[in-house]
Parts: sequence; structure tokens; C-alpha cells
Amino acid sequence: MSIRFRLTIAAIAVILVANSLLWFIALQYLGQVWMGEVQTRVRRNLNSARAAYDNHVEIIGAYLQATAHDKALAAAVRADDRAALQSMLRELGKSKTMDFVSLLDATGKVICRSGSGRTGDDLSADPLVAEVLRRRKSVEGTVVFSRERLLAAGPRLAERALITIVPTEAARPTSDLLSTAGMVTAAAVPVLDERGRTTAILYGGDLLNRRYEIVDALKEQVFRGEVYKGKEIGTVTIFMGNLRVSTNVTRKDGGRAVGTQLSEAVSEAVLEHGEIWAAPAFVVNDWYITAYEPIHDPAGKIIGALYVGLLRAPFAHQLTVISTVFLALVGGATFASLVMLLLVNERVLRPIRSVVSMAQKVIGGDMTARVGVRPAGEMGTLCRAVDSMAQAVAEREELLTQATRQQIRRSEQLASVGRLAAGVAHEINNPLTGVLVFADLMREKENMDDQDREDLEVIVRETKRAREIVRGLLDYARETPSIKVSLNVNDVVRQTMQLLGKREAFQQVNLVKALADNLSLVGGDRNQLQQVLVNLSLNACEAMSDGGTLMIATSGTNDQVVIEVTDTGCGIKPEHLDKIFEPFFTTKAVGKGTGLGLSVTYGIVQQHGGTLEVESAVGKGTTFIITLPAEKG
Ligand code: ADP
Repeated sequence: MSIRFRLTIAAIAVILVANSLLWFIALQYLGQVWMGEVQTRVRRNLNSARAAYDNHVEIIGAYLQATAHDKALAAAVRADDRAALQSMLRELGKSKTMDFVSLLDATGKVICRSGSGRTGDDLSADPLVAEVLRRRKSVEGTVVFSRERLLAAGPRLAERALITIVPTEAARPTSDLLSTAGMVTAAAVPVLDERGRTTAILYGGDLLNRRYEIVDALKEQVFRGEVYKGKEIGTVTIFMGNLRVSTNVTRKDGGRAVGTQLSEAVSEAVLEHGEIWAAPAFVVNDWYITAYEPIHDPAGKIIGALYVGLLRAPFAHQLTVISTVFLALVGGATFASLVMLLLVNERVLRPIRSVVSMAQKVIGGDMTARVGVRPAGEMGTLCRAVDSMAQAVAEREELLTQATRQQIRRSEQLASVGRLAAGVAHEINNPLTGVLVFADLMREKENMDDQDREDLEVIVRETKRAREIVRGLLDYARETPSIKVSLNVNDVVRQTMQLLGKREAFQQVNLVKALADNLSLVGGDRNQLQQVLVNLSLNACEAMSDGGTLMIATSGTNDQVVIEVTDTGCGIKPEHLDKIFEPFFTTKAVGKGTGLGLSVTYGIVQQHGGTLEVESAVGKGTTFIITLPAEKG
């Protein structure tokens, strides 16, 4: 798996995980905020419904109060005119706002009723009547009527109050299948005489059971006909105890969903603990955001609950829209991040590919290959460094190739010239010796004149010179075998210097030696190494015809020993530097130099496994540097 692939996968994973997390957390947060908002709204709606409900009760009270002030009623009460009172109550009962009206005497006994002829029953225990008797003021509120009272108020009311209980799983199990009681919003108003004494009590109200126009009016006041996809968004329900007695919630068949019961949890919170309950709930056939609050009777006892429900679908739709938009944004951002990642990846990795392909070309032998590209930042620095490195390697290789070629050429020359020289020297050596012997013998003769003697001297001198050349050639051809021993180079230098100091040619030369201590030993032929130093010193001396300084210095490491022979002579012209090691190359006058000294020196150093280099500046001087390998162990 390439680094690029791994990096890309890791980055993509990080982006995807981060964005998914972001999306998930944001959705959770949005969901919570949204739920809070909707619940706040449903609570506000519940408050409105409560206000409308209370208003409905107050209207009953106001209506009865207006009737209690009616002079005709007061007169009929005073006269105890039952027939007149009965007809007045029937008129009142007919009005749409009230399901029943009764007139009670000052002790709470029924004098007459709008819906039935039953009289004489004592209602002083009714919480509203009891409150009027105690405070002599009108009282309104919600109370529960037993079937008895409903029957007394009117058989049709008792009939409407009947509700078949629909058992549900969530509700508390009940053995009753029919509810006969009735939930009533009512008011009790005292009828006072001129002196303010209670002469009678007007008692009237509405039976809420299945009285749908009341819940519909509440719904209208709270939700003002708001609809979603043809469906009313809000619903209102009145519970008697835990039983739904009046509601706008409809069943699947279109009928009102009365008869179902509060779930146990809501019952406990609202009916037992008197709390307000707000939560999403599945009501009859749809999800609602619901809110319940208890309904108290005038004595403060919880007798039922008021409910408002907001259809969840429109709000869920809003949340879905917001989530989808957010998801699209996050998705877009993720996609953009991935595209950017790939682009950046490409930008960053392209130079690496260039570096790799360039390296492969160099390995394949193409020393001209370069990265070429120069991206910004560290990558650019890297490319530049790699190119510089390749350039340096190419230059070094070029130098190495040239040096190697030169060395090979030199070795070949030396070898071929050596063979030739050895052959010629052998052939010439014997005749030369013969010439010298006979010339010497002739010098013994007495009958020679001066001219003959002088000529003979020339023959001897020139023959000796020829022999010198032959000897040089034999040295060059290395006919004399080398005897290698372990030796200290400093000793060789000292001996050579001593030898040179005695020569006439070195009298005007200042001889200096700078020898390093603890020099490693080298394995070498003492005579040959001495010859090397003599050759170099003679050349140096000849380069310093007006005198100067010749210094032989030694230095070294554990692995090698370096001898430097430095003069302050005329120096070597740059164009000659390449040629001085070639056999027979000389700049000296004919008869002065043989051009073999440096070739022989080079050959000896090479045979010792060392190197011979030269540094020279015309007019300043020359240094020959001999590097010999130190003896192992
Ligand atoms: P020869 O000394 O017989 O000329 P060599 O091989 O010893 O032959 O030297 C070759 C040439 O190198 C010399 O002719 C001279 O030009 C040059 N040379 C050698 N050593 C030095 C030196 N120390 N200073 C200047 N030139 C030198």
C-alpha cells in the first residue's frame, strides 16, 4: 500500500467521521431545540384553552346573575308562585347556552327545574351551593354530577352523559364499561331581597359530556382554524376523571373519539399530582405534541383534565426540511473537502513522483536527468537539493572517468615503453661495456699524441653517458628486482638528505626536512624509495638554478604515509602538467635530461601501491605528493 494511498484513506476517514459526527450532533441539538419550541407553543395553546374554558364558565355565571336581578323573578320568589317560576326557568333552559337551570330555596332545596318536575331534593352539599350559602356571592366552576342528579336535571342530559368506555392498553384497567356521571360547568347565584338576604339560589350550567360545540369553540379560539394538508392542526379535549368526555379528535370512522382514557402515566402526573404534562403522544390515530392540565372543582379537588394537542406532522416536516438542508450542506462541505484533499494530494505528491523517476533514470546511467519542477515550500527545497546532488555526482563521475582514462593511458605507455627499453638496454649494455674496456686499455698506450688522448677522453665520457642512459632505461623497465621490507619513511628521508647534502649541485640549495613523529611503517624497497626521493630532489634542484629551498615533509594517518617534496623553483607550466610523467618527456636541453626520471618515480610509487600527484605554480614552485599505504597490523 503506497504512502499516498494510506494518507488519502486516513484523511478521507477523518473527514467523513468528523462530518458525520458534526451532522449527528447538530441534528440532535436541532431536534432538542425544535422539541422545546413546539412544547412551549403547545403550553401556550393550553393556557389559551384554559382561558377560553374559564371564560365559558364565567359567561354562565354572568347570565345567571343577570337573571337573578330580574324583578319578575324576585317577585315570583317572594310570592312563591311555582307556576311562574317554572315557566321562567323553562324559558332560561331553552336558551342555547345552558343545558339546565334550577331554583333552590335559601337552604339549598330545589324549588323548581327547567328540564324536569322533580323538586325538594337537597343540594346544599353541592360544592357550588355550599359556597353560595357560605359566602352569599355567586360562584362558578366545574363539578361532576352523578347519574341521579343528571336524571333529576333532565332525562335527556342523563342520556347524553352516558359514554361507553373503550379499553386501551395504556390506560388503567377498569371493570366499568359504561360511564354514567357527567362533567358540568355550572354557576350558582344568590337571589337577594331588598335587604340583601338570600331568598333563593339560581343554579345552572352545561353538561360537557358530548357537548361538542363547547370544545369546538375552544379549539377555534386557540387555533383559529389552522390546517395542515387538509387536517386541523390542533385539538382540544375535556376529561372527566381519566375519561375523554368531549373532544375534537375523531376516530377513523369520523366519529368523535370519546370514551377512551388517559394513559396511566398521564393520569398519575395530572390527576394525582396535579402537574402539567407535555410530551409527544399517539392520540387515537395520529402523533400529537400534547399538553394536559388538571381541572379542579370549587373545593379544589381534581375532577378532570383539559387537553390540547398539536399535530406533530407539520413540525416533523419542518425538522425534516431543516435536517435535509443541513445534510446537504454537510454533504457539500464533505465533497468539497474530498476534492480539495485530492487536489492537494496531487500537488504535494507530483514532485515526489518526479524525484523518484529522476532517481531511477540516474540509477539507469542517465546522469543528465534532473527533477526540474520547483514547487513552493519544503518540497521545492528538496527538489533543488536533489538536483544539486545529481549535478555534483555527475561532475565527480566525469572527473573520475577522466582521471581513470589518463591513468590507463599512462600505464599502457609505461608498459610498452618499458618492454622496448628493456630489450634495447640489454642489447646495448654489452657492446658499451666492451667499448669502455677497450677505450680504457687504449688510454694506457704511450705512443698517443695529445690530440689522440683528448679524442679518447671524449669517447670514454660519451660512452659513460650512454651507459647512464641505458642504466636509467633498465631501472625504468624495473629489471632490478625490488626487496620490500618494513621501514620508516623518515629514515629514508634522512639518509637521502644526507646523501644530497654532499653533492655539489645542492650547495646553493637550502635543504629543509619536516618529519612527523609516530609515522606508520610502510612495506617498501629502501633503495627504490631512496631513488624516488633523489629523482624528485634532483628535478627540484635543477628548477632552482639560482638557489632556493627544498623541503621534504612527512605526515600520515593509521592507514597511509604522505611525503611531500616541495621546491621554490620555476614551477611547471599548466600545459606540461599532463605530460611530465610520460617517458622521454623533458623540457631540458638536449644532453641534459632523459625524460625518464618522473616515469621511473611514478612506476616505483605505483608498484608500492601508492599515488604520485603534483601541484605547481609557475614562478613560485612545485610540490610532489607521494601517498603510500601503511603496513597493516
Ligand atoms: P628530465 O628531468 O630528464 O627532464 P623528468 O621525467 O625527471 O625528466 O622530468 C620531466 C620534466 O618535468 C622536466 O624536463 C621538467 O620540465 C619537469 N619537472 C620535473 N620536476 C620539476 C620541478 N621540480 N620543477 C620544475 N619542473 C620540473
